[in-house]
Amino acid sequence: MIAKKLLMLFIPFTLVSFAFSSDADQLPNTIDYKLDLRIDYATKKLFGKCEITILNETNQPIKNVPILLYRLLSVKNVANENNVSLPFSQSITSISGWEQIQVNFIEISLGKILSPGEQSKINLEYEGYLFGYSAEGWRYVKDHIDKSFTLIRTDGFGYPIIGYPNERDMMKIAQQQYDYLINVTVPNEMIVVTAGKLIEQTKTDNESKFVFHSKEPSWRLDIAISDYNIFEKGENKVYYFTSDSLGAQKVMSALQSCFEIYTEWFGPLDNYQGFSIIEVPEGYSSQKDITAIILSAENFDESREMHTIYHEIAHSWNVTNLDVQPCRFESEGFAQFMQFLMAEKLDNNENAVSEAAQRNLDRVRNAFKEKEECQSIPIKDYGVHDMTDFSYTLGMVVFALFYDIIGQEYFNEIIKSFYKENHLKGATLNEFIHHCKRIAPIDLESFFDDWIYTTRGIKLVVGGKTFNELKEYYKDN
Ligand SMILES: [Zn+2]
Repeated sequence: MIAKKLLMLFIPFTLVSFAFSSDADQLPNTIDYKLDLRIDYATKKLFGKCEITILNETNQPIKNVPILLYRLLSVKNVANENNVSLPFSQSITSISGWEQIQVNFIEISLGKILSPGEQSKINLEYEGYLFGYSAEGWRYVKDHIDKSFTLIRTDGFGYPIIGYPNERDMMKIAQQQYDYLINVTVPNEMIVVTAGKLIEQTKTDNESKFVFHSKEPSWRLDIAISDYNIFEKGENKVYYFTSDSLGAQKVMSALQSCFEIYTEWFGPLDNYQGFSIIEVPEGYSSQKDITAIILSAENFDESREMHTIYHEIAHSWNVTNLDVQPCRFESEGFAQFMQFLMAEKLDNNENAVSEAAQRNLDRVRNAFKEKEECQSIPIKDYGVHDMTDFSYTLGMVVFALFYDIIGQEYFNEIIKSFYKENHLKGATLNEFIHHCKRIAPIDLESFFDDWIYTTRGIKLVVGGKTFNELKEYYKDN
């Protein structure tokens, strides 16, 4: 849900990576993560303990587990779930493909065979320093420990992450989904913020302990520590620096306004646990997670970032996709469309949808002319062919056309009833399309055939039809 920075770095490599993934080492998946951090600001040192629950979802037995950690963080001890020490090795190495990025690479022997389908727990203790990778070329990864601001996140390898130091495994990191429990102890005057829900906060004379539980399973842990101000409305929160209180109001207003409109249109969410916007200083880059956005200070005021908020909040009404390799049309196409529709409704940006749709059409046409093989792959197969990027662009166009054909009232009814009927159990793309056809007042068989199941729609795009011409085309057909 996530044009995640880390993931974005990898997208150009995806096709290359797949070429050698078949004979690469098998990795277990992370299914639960417990992280316990203590920070000593006097020495700027981090002390961490974690318990990672792993599951072997491959078809091969697994004996060793590889771990990546920031180069100045070293592992002190590794144990299994019965607290029996496990042998491990660690060494500083470069990530293959990005030679200037060094990590501490740890290999743990499980001391047993983890058969396919089996799970196990690994406990690690580690400590050391964090200085980020901005000097090495990852300019925005300024993760570090400092009294005024501390940031620990996936991109800086500030906590143990399963993977080998190569590009393929960087991709795998962003494909994990797990629940987490984060426990951070800091000096009293500091506030710890994560994308999770604060479930406990205790204070002694000198220290405060913050405990967070994930609101939704995620692939990343982000921990920001500063003297944050908190702006709260209902379940939604904005964490901001004093100098940006005006920006914080704008951000909260965008968050609340779209949340209210979506709720009115698509019905109330079941068990909504709130969304957090977390400010980070200038140059740290913005990032998205399923229940939070990290927003860098220079973007606090930008309308582009408000679009990001409209996009992310729209995802709350998505139903978990049950396809093996989801094409993400009904999630990303929908959220992309909603972000521009909200720009029209909330920012008086009158033609936001049609202008964005036209931009997307031009982009898709150029890309598909360059890579002709893409022209023969229907949207439903974008997951299989690693083309989900086009579910954002082409998917947005299809949603805009769909909205134009059936009108707002039926569109809202379709999203609302689909969420209501399926959010607890999940649904496939086919179920979503069937649902649209069932509720819509007109026959949509050929429309969805054109765009989802065949490449007839893509032929129209490559043939040069504009967004307005496509709208006309469906009025006539
Ligand atoms: Zn998204």
